[in-house]
Amino acid sequence: MSMRGVLWLVLVSATAMPLHAEDFLVRNQDEYARALKQVRVGDAIVLANGEWRDFELVVTGKGTSDKPVVVRSQEAGKVFLTGQSSLRIGGEHVHVSGLVFKDGYSPRGEVIAFRRSKDDVAHNSRVSEVVIDHFSKPDRFDDDYWVGLFGRNNRFDHNHLVGKTNQGVTLAVRLDSEESRENGHRIDHNYFGPRPVLGSNGGETIRIGTSQYSMFRSGTVIENNVFDRTDGEVEIISSKSNGNVFRGNLFLRSRGTLTLRHGDDALVERNVFMGHGKDYTGGIRVINRNQTVRGNYMEGLRGTGFASALTVMNGVPNSPVNRYVQVENAVIEGNTVVDSTRVTLAGGASAERSAPPVNSVMRGNLFVTDGDDPLFRIEDDISGIAMQANVILGAPNASEGLSLDRRTANMVRAANGLLYPDDPALDGVGAPRDLRPMQLSQVGVAWYAKPGDGEKFGASGKVHQVAPGEDTLALAVDAAGDGDVLMLAPGNYVVHRAIGLDKSLTIRSAKAEGRAPATIRFTRPSLIELREGGNLQLADLTIDGELAPDSVGNAVIRTTAFPLQNNMRVEFDRVNVRNLTVNKSFNVLALGKGALADRISIRKSAFADISGGVVAADTETDDYGRYNVEYLDIVDSQFANVGGPIASVYRGGTDESTFGPFVTITGNAIANAGKTAGASVHLHGVQTVVIARNAFAASAPVRIAHTVGTPSTRLEGNTFAGTPAPEVKELNHDGPPRVQISANTFDGKAAK
Ligand code: CA
Repeated sequence: MSMRGVLWLVLVSATAMPLHAEDFLVRNQDEYARALKQVRVGDAIVLANGEWRDFELVVTGKGTSDKPVVVRSQEAGKVFLTGQSSLRIGGEHVHVSGLVFKDGYSPRGEVIAFRRSKDDVAHNSRVSEVVIDHFSKPDRFDDDYWVGLFGRNNRFDHNHLVGKTNQGVTLAVRLDSEESRENGHRIDHNYFGPRPVLGSNGGETIRIGTSQYSMFRSGTVIENNVFDRTDGEVEIISSKSNGNVFRGNLFLRSRGTLTLRHGDDALVERNVFMGHGKDYTGGIRVINRNQTVRGNYMEGLRGTGFASALTVMNGVPNSPVNRYVQVENAVIEGNTVVDSTRVTLAGGASAERSAPPVNSVMRGNLFVTDGDDPLFRIEDDISGIAMQANVILGAPNASEGLSLDRRTANMVRAANGLLYPDDPALDGVGAPRDLRPMQLSQVGVAWYAKPGDGEKFGASGKVHQVAPGEDTLALAVDAAGDGDVLMLAPGNYVVHRAIGLDKSLTIRSAKAEGRAPATIRFTRPSLIELREGGNLQLADLTIDGELAPDSVGNAVIRTTAFPLQNNMRVEFDRVNVRNLTVNKSFNVLALGKGALADRISIRKSAFADISGGVVAADTETDDYGRYNVEYLDIVDSQFANVGGPIASVYRGGTDESTFGPFVTITGNAIANAGKTAGASVHLHGVQTVVIARNAFAASAPVRIAHTVGTPSTRLEGNTFAGTPAPEVKELNHDGPPRVQISANTFDGKAAK
C-alpha cells in the first residue's frame, strides 16, 4: 500500500469511525450525512451522546427484515435533539431508537414523519424508545403532528410522548395516498402522557384517517399503550377509517373517549378505562357499522353525553362522510361499567341525527351503580339493540326503561386491580377475569421519568420570609424557585416594575396579632405579568391600585403579550383588592389572546372600587371555539362598585370539541357591579354554568348566551335587589333558552 492510500484511510476513519464492522459513530451533522451515504444493509449509524441542535435528521435506506438500517443513540436517553429538529424516515426496514426531543419544536408539519418526502415513504420501519417532551410549537394554534405514520407495516413502540400544547393530533395515521392504506401499522407499548386541555378542536392523542378517506381500510393496531391524562379535547382517539383494532390499552384519568368516529369494522377489546372520578372522563363512543366492543372495563368515569362510559350514537340518514353514519351490526358484549355516571344509547338524537341503532346487540355486560341516579340515558328508540343477559347491580331507577337482569352482589377488587362481583353465578358476565391492565413500567422507556401528579402550590416546601419596603417583593420573586412560598411580613410593599412570573409561586401575608395584613401597591400598569410556566396563588393580602398610572390595559395581573404554551392557574384566597380607579377600565385579572387558564379560583376575597372587570377572559373572539379559561370558580366573595363584569368569559363559534368552559359563581355578595359594561356577569358559549346563592344588589343583569353543544346553565337561590332579571339567550338552538331557574327572588319576591 502506498503512503497516499494509508493517509486516505486515516482520513476516512477520522470522519466516521467504525466501532466494529457496521457501526459508524458520528459526532455532528456533517459526519452523519457522510455516514448515511456509506451505510449498507445491516449497518448502524450511532449518534454520539450530547446535544444535537437544529438537526433535521433524515434516515433512508433499504434494509431487510433481519438486517435493518439502524440509527440509534450511543446511549439511550443521552442524545438530545433540540431547537428546530425533526426526524424523517424513508425506505424500508429502517429502525431509529433512543433519541430525546426536547427544548425546541419541529419547524415542519411533524416531529417524526414516516416519510422522507411524498415519493419516499417508509415501509416495514420502526421507531422505538424515543422521547418527545414538550416539543411544541410556541403558538398554541400553530399546528403540527408529533408523529405522522405513512406507508405500510410500520411500528411505533415503547416511546414516551408528553406535553403537546399546540394544536394538532399527537399521532396521526395518514391514509391520503394509496400506499398508506391497508397499512397494518402497529402502535404499541407507548406512554402517551399528559396532554393539557387545548381549548379547541385538534387536541386528539391519536387519529387514524380523516373523514375524507374514511371509506378506506387502515387496519392499524393500537395495543398495550397507556393514555395518562390525555385531556386535549373530547376525542382521545378518533378512529376515522375501517378495520382498526384497539386492544389492551389503559386509559388513566383521561378526559374524553375512544371514538369510532368514521369507518366500520373496528374491534375494541380488553381495554381498561380508569377515570378516578375526574370530570369528563369517558369510555367508548360507537358510530358506524360492524363495530365490536367486547371485554372492556370502565371504572370511575364521570363523563356524560358524548363522553359517557359507553355511548351508542344516533346517525344521520344517508349521512355525508363528515357527519354520523347510523350504527348497524354493533356487538357490545362482556363489558363492565362500574362507578360511572352515564351510559347513553341513541345518543345525540336530533332532527338531523334521527336514525337510531339497528341490528345491534348488547350481551352479557355488567353495569354496577351505587345510588339511585339513572345510569342510562336513552335518547331515541333502542328497539334495534337486542338486550341479552345483561346484568345490573343497583337500584331500580338506574336502568329504567331497559330490560336488564337485576341482581345483588358485592364487588370485590381482584389481584389485577379491577372489580368483580363476588357471586360465582355472575362469573361469565362483564369484563373477563384475566384482564391485565398495563402497568406504567411496561410502556415507554425505563430511562425517562413519567410525570408525577402535577405540581401544587408550595410543592417545593421552601418558604422565604419577605420584609416590607420598596421592591422587596419583586426581588424576592426573582430569587424564588418553582413551588416556593413568599411569606410577607405585615406592612406596606411598593413594586416599581411589573413582576414577570415564570414559575409556580405562592405570595401570602403572615398573620400578626393586631396588625393589618401585607398591603401591596404598584406603580406600573400591572403588578404581575404571567409568563411561560407562571402559576400564581395569592393569600391573605391586600392589593391597592392607588399608585398605578393611567395607562392602556391596566390590570393587577395580566398575561404576557407573547404566546403561552402551558396552561396556567391563578388563585385568590382571602385577598382584598381595592382602588383600581385611575382610569375607566382597570381590571383585576386579564387573560390575553392565546392564553388558557386551567383554573382561576377566587375564594373568600373582597373587591371594591374597581373601574374594569374582575376576571376578563374574553379575548378569543375569532369564534373558532377557543377560550381563555377552563374552570372559573368565584365563591364566597364580595364585590362592591365594580364597573365591569365580575366575570366575562367568551367562547364563540360552533365547534363541539371541547368540554369547557365551566363557570361556578356561588355564595357571593355583588353590589353596584357591571353598570359600565351592562352586565354584572357576562358568559358567552360557556358549557356549564352554576350561579347560585348570590346576593345581587343595584347591579347590571347577568347575561348568558348559549352557542353550541348541550349547555347546562343553572340559576338557583339568588336574590336580586334593584337588579334586572338574568338574560339567557340561545344563538344556535331553536326553542326557549335551556336554563334551570329555581328559588330566585327579585326585590324580595319569588320569581313568577
Ligand atoms: Ca376532534
